[in-house]
Amino acid sequence: MISFPTTLDGLYINGQWSAGPEHLRVINPASEALLTTVNGGDEHAVDQAVSAASAAFKNWSQTSGTERGAILRNIANGVRNGREHLMNLQSSNNGKPQFEAAIDVDDVIATFEYYAELAEGLDAKQDSNVPLPSDDFSARLRREPCGVVGLIVPWNFPMVTTAWKLAPALAAGCCVVLKPSEVTPLPELELAAIIAESGLPNGVFNLVCGTGLAVGAPLSVDPRIAKISFTGSNAVGVQVMQRAAETVKGVSLELGGKSSLLVLADADMDLAVELACGGAFFNAGQMCSATSRVLVAEELEEEFLTRLQKRAQAIRVADPFDADVEMGALVNQAQYQRVLGHIDRGLSAGARLLCGGNRPADLPRGYFLQPTVFTDVPLDSALWCEEIFGPVLCVRSFSSEAEAIALANDTPFGLVASVVTADAVAADRVANALQAGMVWINAPQVIFPQAAWGGYKQSSIGRELGPWGLAAFQEIKHVIRAV
Ligand code: NAD
Repeated sequence: MISFPTTLDGLYINGQWSAGPEHLRVINPASEALLTTVNGGDEHAVDQAVSAASAAFKNWSQTSGTERGAILRNIANGVRNGREHLMNLQSSNNGKPQFEAAIDVDDVIATFEYYAELAEGLDAKQDSNVPLPSDDFSARLRREPCGVVGLIVPWNFPMVTTAWKLAPALAAGCCVVLKPSEVTPLPELELAAIIAESGLPNGVFNLVCGTGLAVGAPLSVDPRIAKISFTGSNAVGVQVMQRAAETVKGVSLELGGKSSLLVLADADMDLAVELACGGAFFNAGQMCSATSRVLVAEELEEEFLTRLQKRAQAIRVADPFDADVEMGALVNQAQYQRVLGHIDRGLSAGARLLCGGNRPADLPRGYFLQPTVFTDVPLDSALWCEEIFGPVLCVRSFSSEAEAIALANDTPFGLVASVVTADAVAADRVANALQAGMVWINAPQVIFPQAAWGGYKQSSIGRELGPWGLAAFQEIKHVIRAV
């Protein structure tokens, strides 16, 4: 367990740490105890951070990809050296088990290393010739950083959502103002401390902790910001987009989900149960990609429910630092109440509770909830239709592949989906028919920085990771010359 100073500076602007006027109380969700108070910023701090980033852009945008790649590698190494501390910060501030925090930190390292490699490759690719159907003209295409960018991230994967934006933005040559969630600023404060030692010139990276209204809103309207990259809820994503529209900023959005796992009639049942539990209960279900719905072939339903209930009830909910923990705490009181409210409304709507739904008896404090499974969930209920963002899974049977696909696609979201089947042809057929940005076949929700992340419909605008994540921070200039 880490001990914290009573207060922490919440601003890192132009290479300097300082305290802002807003006092953000940071809680340990497993004990409900106050960890520390972060002195976050307001509109004035945003103005200073954007000024610093704008001034730094002149030189940073002219650096070579090789130079930028070297700094990204320094950041990756800094994260590697601070791995254990960063894991502890995430478990303390977010409530996630240590093994999950380790996955997050390793993802951050892999992301910075991947974009270091892409940055190093940029020098040869910055200008490329474009063949024209005319001998009178020649053309080249030039990729340039899009400018100063605002990055706004949520609390569920604080470091990971930050890395997926920050690494490609720096690789492209953009300058950055980052706003972490006011609920989980501690991992990003440590990341900023690592970045401060990485050799990155002052002003290229700036951090302003604070609330959505005090910091996120002014960032979204500042005319000097070229682009906002936002991960969070749909309600706030819409507000960010509306504000950004006033100055016609680019906007990337990573929003909510209501994702399904399809268990076809020939599925390996043990695998299906493991994937259902992993998808629904990892990070206490607080995932945009959470498996909210399991659609199971009707001939397997009874046996599947028996095995699922047994496995869900055996999941060890415990303190995130407990050696045998399988599921930790929800992030805060508000989120805890929100999820309990969904469970109550589901029961009122007539859904059948198979297991869970309560606080574990051995955990009287902290925002802990049992893994929860519902069946017979009405198709028009909030439980079936809305993002729950907690450890709550709804199971329903289907009688045909077409019905399963229709049920999975019947949502305004389209982030991810999973399929379990022994039939490789059926797996691809179903994957192609699902309206989702990412589909896993017989696989847990593994994510590689090389593969695109993002969704269809109201889950996303744009894609993160891969070369698409880098392109999101680049402008394209076409230069045509008379010859
Ligand atoms: P949230 O929308 O409440 O907050 C996200 C961020 O926006 C926070 O930093 C918050 O302070 C800021 N914010 C709040 N109001 C703002 C405003 N008016 N203007 C600008 N910024 C504002 O989301 P959350 O509760 O932190 O995270 C949970 C949500 O994030 C879920 O809906 C989840 O699906 C989504 N999410 C999506 C992905 C993805 O990749 N698609 C990944 C993680 C989380």
